[in-house]
Amino acid sequence: MGGVEPISGTDPHPVTGQAFPSPVPPGTGWPGDPATADTPVARTPAQVARLARSAQSTAELDAMVTVCRACPRLVDWRESVATTGRRASFADQPYWGRPAAGFGPAGAPVLVVGLAPAANGANRTGRMFTGDRSGDWIYAALHRGGYATQAASDHAGDGLELQGIRIVSAVRCAPPQNKPTTPEKATCAPWLHRELELAVPTLRSILALGSIGWDATLRTVREMGWAVPRPKPKFGHGAIAEIVTPDGRTVRLVGSYHVSQQNTFTGKLTEAMLDQVIATL
Ligand code: SF4
Repeated sequence: MGGVEPISGTDPHPVTGQAFPSPVPPGTGWPGDPATADTPVARTPAQVARLARSAQSTAELDAMVTVCRACPRLVDWRESVATTGRRASFADQPYWGRPAAGFGPAGAPVLVVGLAPAANGANRTGRMFTGDRSGDWIYAALHRGGYATQAASDHAGDGLELQGIRIVSAVRCAPPQNKPTTPEKATCAPWLHRELELAVPTLRSILALGSIGWDATLRTVREMGWAVPRPKPKFGHGAIAEIVTPDGRTVRLVGSYHVSQQNTFTGKLTEAMLDQVIATL
């Protein structure tokens, strides 16, 4: 088994009706699960770095990400939310309880870099930004912008597809209080690094959601030897930085306030503001 120890008891998937334990064992039929029971599991920061480097494709990377167990605090948290800590309104649903893979086609010209999955969002549904208010915002905007086949994103298996865009996050496990520690961010960084390496040949622009996505992207591309303007470009809503790959191609990094409820409820981020940045990608 790929490293996830399911807790006894199963619940039906809201779309397919298939019964799953929580967390979901890899390769057991969850819609969109990229892993199998044989997918190699990273249990230490060094193993994350080695396995990320070894991924020959985005599909392989996705599979390894979703079985990663390298951050003990985050593994405990994501699995405890998935079992004893479910939100009451989802108590009868299975919880994915694993890291979230990137969502969207490999080779997409646009990459979205978010912060981390939400405990009752992607940690429940197994798909980036799916099943929470932040997801309602981002997918509705991507639908308006022509990148998503539907505006709603409730569950993996609901038919949503992305076109020309792929969504990833700086940290792939749901953190307590949405706050990963600095060592956890560092441990997870090689997954993003490899994601970017695999994306480079077709990449046109990157949308960073929030300053953590912005900083993680700049740190990663610097490590990869890209030319980044100095002083370091400052994050802001609508900020644009031109970053240059080692073979001289310019990629546009665009900043957006994060689609968190903290920003969308307060009006700090409006639909029009989000549409504006998406139009620049
Ligand atoms: S945060 Fe990243 S490195 Fe840490 S366990 Fe999750 S996927 Fe692995």
